[in-house]
Amino acid sequence: MGYVFGINISIGDEQGQSIGKLWSRLPNQTDLDNNCKTKKFPCPKCACAYSQKYSLNRHLMYECGQEPRFKCPYCEYRYKKSANIYEHVRRRHKNCQVYAIDVLKITEET
Ligand SMILES: [Zn+2]
Ligand SMILES: [Zn+2]
Repeated sequence: MGYVFGINISIGDEQGQSIGKLWSRLPNQTDLDNNCKTKKFPCPKCACAYSQKYSLNRHLMYECGQEPRFKCPYCEYRYKKSANIYEHVRRRHKNCQVYAIDVLKITEET
């Protein structure tokens, strides 16, 4: 065994192999968060990709090709996730109540 990512591994072969696997997996996982191309479940309709299948399904159901569902109650800012609206309101509309308008619910009711 030699140097793996600059770390001298001085243990038996068997253990060295499993550590080698671990090392080759860990950097990939951090890459997954940053680089869409390495994700296993790419969206067939857009450039998004996900490492979990349920994430892709959720994306297809609620996000992909959909109008941003949530809207800032104080301006025209829209986003697909209510959490982003909360974040926006906290930053842009200080001292205002933090909530998001669900555009789909409004259209259902009227
Ligand atoms: Zn998509
Ligand atoms: Zn706003």
